[in-house]
Amino acid sequence: MDAATALRELVLDVPDHPEPGIVFKDITPLLAHPEGFAAVVEALAAAGRDEAGAVVVDAVVGMEARGFILAAPVALALGVGLVPVRKVGRLPRETHEISYALEYGEATLEIHRDGVAPGQRVLLVDDVLATGGTVAATRELVERCGGVVTGLAVLMELGFLPGRETAGDLTVTALTTV
Ligand code: 5GP
Repeated sequence: MDAATALRELVLDVPDHPEPGIVFKDITPLLAHPEGFAAVVEALAAAGRDEAGAVVVDAVVGMEARGFILAAPVALALGVGLVPVRKVGRLPRETHEISYALEYGEATLEIHRDGVAPGQRVLLVDDVLATGGTVAATRELVERCGGVVTGLAVLMELGFLPGRETAGDLTVTALTTV
């Protein structure tokens, strides 16, 4: 199964979750399908390689919570480390912290201050690019550590929201746009 087929067949639309008017993309059937999961992980990992297949990032950052599920196998596929960006209060050591607006609600994210070393090239990995708020906030956290965000890889981009504009000059790899 290829990534496009996996995304078409194994991601479900759930109306009115978590709030009325939001159509939530449920990726759990995709995660439960070994071939589909492997295909999307490989497609996401390609965002961390150049045209010759060489790895061009030093770390993968995953955003809590669905980002973790995808970022971990992408990091292993690239042979680089995984750095978690977590909701406030969950990382045990000194952090950088940022608050931002979500498609629904508000959130605060943190990264360990030593999670990314100065000069490291970082690929961000998440499931969905919606308003772009999570990505902009995560990029800011990585930059406060001294890292350089070279790109964002997501399963899905919600084309009716301004995620790409918010992402600015970041290279966005979206396996599909809905
Ligand atoms: P943004 O900050 O771009 O507005 O929202 C992206 C974040 O919210 C991602 O971390 C993503 O996990 C979550 N998110 C927003 N909408 C959806 C959705 O429809 N489905 C899923 N699975 N996650 C979503």
